[in-house]
This record gives sequence, structure tokens and C-alpha cells, in this order.
Amino acid sequence: MKPVFSIIAPIFNEHDSLPELHRRVSAVMDGLGEPWELILVDDGSSDGSTDLIRQLAEQDERVRPVIFARNFGHQIAVTAGLDYARGDAVVIIDADLQDPPEVIPDLVARWREGYEVVYAVRTEREGESWFKLFTASLFYRIIFRITDVKIPMDTGDFRLLDRKVVNVLKTMRERHRFLRGMAAWVGFRQIGVPYKRAARFAGSTKYPFKKMLRLALTAITGFSYFPLQVATYLGFISAGLALIFIPIVVIERLVGNQAFFGQATTLVSVLFLGGVQLISLGILGEYIGRIYDEVKGRPLYIVREAPENDSSHPQS
Ligand code: UDP
Ligand code: MG
Repeated sequence: MKPVFSIIAPIFNEHDSLPELHRRVSAVMDGLGEPWELILVDDGSSDGSTDLIRQLAEQDERVRPVIFARNFGHQIAVTAGLDYARGDAVVIIDADLQDPPEVIPDLVARWREGYEVVYAVRTEREGESWFKLFTASLFYRIIFRITDVKIPMDTGDFRLLDRKVVNVLKTMRERHRFLRGMAAWVGFRQIGVPYKRAARFAGSTKYPFKKMLRLALTAITGFSYFPLQVATYLGFISAGLALIFIPIVVIERLVGNQAFFGQATTLVSVLFLGGVQLISLGILGEYIGRIYDEVKGRPLYIVREAPENDSSHPQS
């Protein structure tokens, strides 16, 4: 039977959370009284999550496993979930139970009112370090300011998407993905639902600082040219300063001011300019690297095992 609801959970070494995730999602979804499916995307786990997913799928036919050939990253895992989902409404949820499944009925209620994207906004976050809270908060505010799409603040990937939105997202095959931005970019009627983000049920975060930084860069480069513009501004500022100071230096030297006969000033300005140029090159490099990745046109992910799909044909 075709499910009305699809729940997608990306899984990277979440062995200890999985049974509880399945239990709580089942309890909540059964309460809604419509057929549903739980898509567990195994993103190259190495802690036995893979076997546990297979086991859950054997016991419960509503569980559909998608098992990757290796770790492709959180955003790609969610993308695969969207590709395999068959429901009229699709809910993305973290497997560590930081997004309580009990909030899903609130999201569904808004969807039934006619909203096509219902995102869950964190009013409180439990069990996170001050560093994570600070960097996350800074990240959402920077993204909000400099990107062209208005990506809702303090909102993760926990959200409900209508089939119409999922179908649009499925046509957007960019490799460097920031799904929150992409979901905001498509438009439709969107609304937030507040919720309290819980602490992790088990295990530790799979988003070390390096991955957070990567995601931030993907978000910024994917939705704005701001860094490129910064390079341009820096160039104009340096050139402007040079225009002002060159005549001053020439005149001072001609009149014989001793202070203008040293190498230190030269060294400092060369260092400054060198720095500006290298930073600008780096920014360019970030964009060009991403263009190169897109042009290669490799598949977004490779599945080792996946359920038969009736309606759609994912991949690439
Ligand atoms: N995740 C994933 N692949 C990765 C990293 C994370 O599928 O490479 C999953 C992870 O299992 C979890 C979700 O993405 O279900 C969110 O990750 P996490 O809870 O570690 O991030 P945090 O909540 O600390 O930001
Ligand atoms: Mg988490």
C-alpha cells in the first residue's frame, strides 16, 4: 500500500539510538492513522547500524533500508531518502532523537492546513556545548544576512515537505547541498513550528567542527556571491589606498624626507597585498572547486542495497 507519510532518518553510526527511534516513530505514526514508511539511510556506518537496519526492516515491512556503499555525508543521505520516499508528505528527522518524533503530528497539522513546507524551529537546545550553540547561532545569522534566499533561523533539517516540494527538490541535483537553503529557495507556502530540541539519545555528534565549517561554506557559496564581492571590495580598497599614498610618497622622497627611504614600508605593503591576493585566490578556488565537482557529473551517492522503487527512479 502506498504510504501517506514517509519519515527519513540519515544514519551514521547510530546503533544505540536505532531501536528507540523505530519505537518512538512507530508509536507516533500509528497514532496518525494513515499508512507510513520509515526510510533508514545508512550513510556508511561501521558500528553495526547496517545489520540493525536490515534486522528492523525484516521485522517491520514499513521500514525501508537504503544502504550506501560508503559515507557520503548527512545532506546526501537525506537526499537519497527524498529519492526513495513515496509518501504524500515527507518528514526529515535526525536519527539521534534530538528531533523528537512526537513533534511530527504538529507538523502534519500545519500540512493539513495547506502549508507545503513546515519546518521545526528550535526554541531551546538541550545538551549542547556552548561552543556548538554559539557557532550554530552565528552561522544562522550570517547565512540569513548574506544569502539571497531567506533561510529561516535556528532551523535544522527537521521538517515536513509536501510531495510537490519533494518532486522539485528531486530535480535539483547539485553536489554541494544545503537542503535548508534549497527548501527555502523553492518557495511554496512555508511555516515554522516551534519545538524544544532534545539532547542526543546516545553516542556523540557526527558533526565535528570541520564538517560544520564545510556545511557553512556550502551554504554560503551555494546561495550567495558575497565572498567574491568581498574580494572585489578588498581590491578596490587596496587600489584606492595606493592611489592616495603613491603621490605622497613620491613627493616626500623628492623633498628628501629620511623616513621614506626604508624597506620596512615596502615590505609591509607587499605583505598586505600578497595576503589580500591569496585570500581572493582562495575564495575563487572554493567556487572553482565546486564548479569542477558539478561538471564531473558523478552520481550523488552509490547504494549497495536499496528497496525496489515503484514510482520513481532515483540515482545520479
Ligand atoms: N549523519 C549522517 N552522515 C554523516 C554525519 C551525520 O548521516 O556523515 C547523520 C547522523 O547519524 C544524524 C544526523 O545526520 O542522524 C545529524 O547528525 P548529528 O546528530 O551528529 O549532528 P548534530 O545534531 O550534532 O548537529
Ligand atoms: Mg544530533
